[in-house]
Amino acid sequence: MNYHSMSAAELGSTRDELAGLYETLQAAGLKLDLTRGKPSPDQLDLSNGLLSLPGDTHTDPSGTDCRNYGGTAGLPGLREIFGELLAVPSKQLIAANNSSLEIMYDLTVFAMLHGTPDSDGPWGRDPVKFLCPAPGYDRHFAICESLGIEMVTVEMLPNGPDVDACAALVADDPTIKGLWAVPTFSNPTGVTFSEDVVRGLMAMPAAAPDFRVYWDNAYAVHTLTEDFPPPVPILEIAAQEGNPNRPYVLGSTSKITFAGSGVSFFGSSESNIAWHQKHVGISSIGPDKVNQLRHLMFFGDADGVRAHMAKHRELLAPKFALVAKILSDRLGDSKVASWTEPDGGYFVSLDVIDGTAARVIELAKEAGIALTAAGSTYPYKRDPYDRNIRLAPTFPGTEELATAMDGVATCVLLAAADKLLA
Ligand code: PLP
Repeated sequence: MNYHSMSAAELGSTRDELAGLYETLQAAGLKLDLTRGKPSPDQLDLSNGLLSLPGDTHTDPSGTDCRNYGGTAGLPGLREIFGELLAVPSKQLIAANNSSLEIMYDLTVFAMLHGTPDSDGPWGRDPVKFLCPAPGYDRHFAICESLGIEMVTVEMLPNGPDVDACAALVADDPTIKGLWAVPTFSNPTGVTFSEDVVRGLMAMPAAAPDFRVYWDNAYAVHTLTEDFPPPVPILEIAAQEGNPNRPYVLGSTSKITFAGSGVSFFGSSESNIAWHQKHVGISSIGPDKVNQLRHLMFFGDADGVRAHMAKHRELLAPKFALVAKILSDRLGDSKVASWTEPDGGYFVSLDVIDGTAARVIELAKEAGIALTAAGSTYPYKRDPYDRNIRLAPTFPGTEELATAMDGVATCVLLAAADKLLA
């Protein structure tokens, strides 16, 4: 029944029932975890073929001896494959080590210390701000916080970041140097940016000539349906709009092969790539090309990656369907929560009654169910509405996931009843 139309007496007795359910939940002595946006062991098993590659081979098709130093741009064959999947010309795509987050961090540090090709000096000389669409990815926000970059929250809408708000902010403020974007199956909302949003972000006039959009396409091929989202040629669009140096395209195989031993990618304009290579060449004499070679051999081509992602989908789609079913069965009538049912990516974003998210997370914790820390999806870990909870259904087994979600639903209802009675 809709909690908002209950009388105080009805709500009171519902609350008492929920308190009983919660006691039972606590007594079960659970130890469950919905915080980990990680592939499950059976997903990792899909890539076990990598463990026996590259075998005795150590030369890539272009003749590079992968065992040696050098080749900071990475293996051309692998850049071809991911160039196709990320819609970046392979000459403008770097294949690097295992973490795209590390590249994002480096790009920001290089700019803070040296400035970009469009800067008149190091960013770090003056105050720097980044636009942070929220709910968003906590580790993007952590980079800003760690480097002393002020975060300005903009709202994440169903088609992507609020472009009008972004445009108004960047138009007048030359200290706004960056914007975080997860354009496909966003973390945590699952939103894929519409064409209008994409073009708007590339076209909007910015007071800072060195304004950058971190186009973190971490979930470019991570579909939960039979369809793959068409790759968006973001570098081409940016160039058409007169801002060729604006986007930094990022991606990785972290959630395609092994999360800790994948290959990451960075694509951008020729001048940004040259700038990145100049600075990265100081800290490294080349990436792990043996790992790149085994990935190249494992996939063969872009269709090989798509076929591999279909196997992930078979494992993941039932888990996301289970989460949607439990949330709908337990919370649907009460109207105290809404949630996403994404077509891809790694998360479900749950919105509860304003002012109750932290309480839900605390109740869950006391019942042995770990949820992502309150506020994590907002800059400075401060959700102004105390509303959003990020759920990560990929890692737990199905049974564990069902038990955890049922427990979370009880916590959401109990916190809502308490709030409405207060
Ligand atoms: N970007 C987004 C949006 C993510 O959700 C994650 C991981 O959860 C990453 C980047 C991390 O990528 P990588 O493993 O390549 O560092």
